[in-house]
Amino acid sequence: MKPSDWAERHRVVAEETSPHPGKWRNARTPFLVEIMDTMAPSHWARRTTVMKSVQVSGSEGLSNILGWIIDSAPGPALVVHPTIEAGRDWTSEKFEPTIEATKRLKRKVSNVVIRGRDGSTLKRKRFPGGSIVVTGANSGAGLRQKSVRYVFLDDMDEFPPKIGDQGDPVEMARARKTSFEKSGKDKELDVSTPTIKSASRIARQYEAGTQGRWHVPCPHCGAEQVLKWGGKDQAFGIKFNPVPPYHAHYVCEANGCIVQHWQLEGMNAQGRWVHAFPFPGREPSYHLNSLISPFTTWDHIVAKWIDAQGDPEKLKTFVNLQLGEPWDEAGDRPKAEELLARCETWDAGTVPAPVSGSGVLLITLSCDVQGDGIWYRFIGWGRDRQSWGLQHGFLDGETGTETGSAFQKLDALRRKQFRDRWGNDRRADAVGIDANYQTEVVVNWCKSRLDCFPLRGEDGWRQPAWPGKATPRTFSERGKARRKGPKTFPVGTWPLKTRHFGALKVKKEADAIVFPGSYCHFNQDWSESDFKQLLSEIFATQRNRKTGKVTQGWHQTEVDNHLLDCTVYGLALAEKLGMSTKSPAEWEWLERKWQRLASEQRSLFDAPELADEPPDDSDSPAIEPVPNAVRPTVTTSVVMEEVIDLG
Ligand SMILES: [Zn+2]
Repeated sequence: MKPSDWAERHRVVAEETSPHPGKWRNARTPFLVEIMDTMAPSHWARRTTVMKSVQVSGSEGLSNILGWIIDSAPGPALVVHPTIEAGRDWTSEKFEPTIEATKRLKRKVSNVVIRGRDGSTLKRKRFPGGSIVVTGANSGAGLRQKSVRYVFLDDMDEFPPKIGDQGDPVEMARARKTSFEKSGKDKELDVSTPTIKSASRIARQYEAGTQGRWHVPCPHCGAEQVLKWGGKDQAFGIKFNPVPPYHAHYVCEANGCIVQHWQLEGMNAQGRWVHAFPFPGREPSYHLNSLISPFTTWDHIVAKWIDAQGDPEKLKTFVNLQLGEPWDEAGDRPKAEELLARCETWDAGTVPAPVSGSGVLLITLSCDVQGDGIWYRFIGWGRDRQSWGLQHGFLDGETGTETGSAFQKLDALRRKQFRDRWGNDRRADAVGIDANYQTEVVVNWCKSRLDCFPLRGEDGWRQPAWPGKATPRTFSERGKARRKGPKTFPVGTWPLKTRHFGALKVKKEADAIVFPGSYCHFNQDWSESDFKQLLSEIFATQRNRKTGKVTQGWHQTEVDNHLLDCTVYGLALAEKLGMSTKSPAEWEWLERKWQRLASEQRSLFDAPELADEPPDDSDSPAIEPVPNAVRPTVTTSVVMEEVIDLG
């Protein structure tokens, strides 16, 4: 019996796992049938690859295959999730309810017996003729189990490239199959949504495989086709109104026929897999996007697309999760010369008035501490994520102690004020300092300065940009996590770098007046070498020629990347200040507040002698003086209180 036949006959979808509980029907997701059946002993495949979006029942498909193994093709199996925690969650939220709901499985899987040798546990399900071990790709111990016949790598693009010095978790899991490989009975299924094109394992495996795509006939002209997003430059694909109701529909690639979402079920029923490279000769690989999903609607997908406009990080998420395609991080990245050529001119020490939109509503100061000084960037942020490079540079001096000369300069610098278009003199709303290097010094320095935050970068796509809570750094020692050192604020640098590079790619059309969301403004202070720093990293998988070890992550391509680090911390501080969470009303309020403050101050201090710069900055050598303006100045203390409120 093939896995799909078993599922149709015996599988019950548990109520807590799906909005469609009850007997499993292959007809609902016909695209899963061929994929599941590559696991049958009669199929020639040894390794099946599925690069997929969300909403295509990938997890249910895996449950079907595991059920079929337990009931009909028993043997030892290993299921690997990105982390032990993810594996535990999947077991208790998906796998155990499936066993409970499906009679034949419940009868075969031994009851949970704590520490019992023959019973099942959260990690290991025992049944006659085999067992299923669930582990995490971050656990060396979990991957060193005895030999197995079946290996399942779920969400493999989230796997770490290596575990400590033990090697690549994917290779470690595969090594478990060795004894079954000799008899030709081994099977592997790798399933994941893709991440970054240059580093995506699932995308690479998909490309190396048969490259199957699900083809459905147009209900009008019958032309067989893959449903694709299309885009505004394409005649075919998903088309919609720019505002709700979106009335999303599909335009047939062959003849321009209009297809509605309700017609999808009938199309899927007649769908079939077409492989770019014929069987056999390559291992089977499949691609699935959410446009063919019976569990979402095109309107819903369009809403996500519209929400992602102007935000590169959300666009990446859309491409990965909805289209099931890898994100091209390096593609059409601007060169340093191009950024230099588009620099604007505005007075140093001021916040330029925007051509359109709100202009700068938040200001961040972010710093990267080195042995011989401190790199810094002041960035102004608009509500549509446009940013303005207000000032950047390097404070040379000693950084080994809190009173080191570089920190003294920084103390003066953080009080720097920028004259905004309404006449307010504005300080940074939040100051962030990299604490990876001089951790103790930076943490202590920030303690007595309420607007300053010690930051540390954390790797990984799942790290949130700004979790908002200071914690000690986590170290992993022999598979155990330990927390050590003073408390610093973690920053998810991976997704923020995507946001940064995506923003640098945003261009203004030559004849357009309005700057698009996320556009980065720079002024005459920027040099080509500064821009090289901003462009100094790429996301890549690298193999060490000596050791053969593979690492994945952001890699430096230029000697200096300090201004990039400052920018990423600036993005994190903008998140802290509510960039992604403020409602439109809150943004309005903020904009009107600065307008109101300026006009109140104008009427209060309507005397020309008060127009001088505040005394605060006059004795700080590290800062250029704020240029005198004809307009009166808002006093520092008034602005400061308001600024602290915002945090
Ligand atoms: Zn058609």
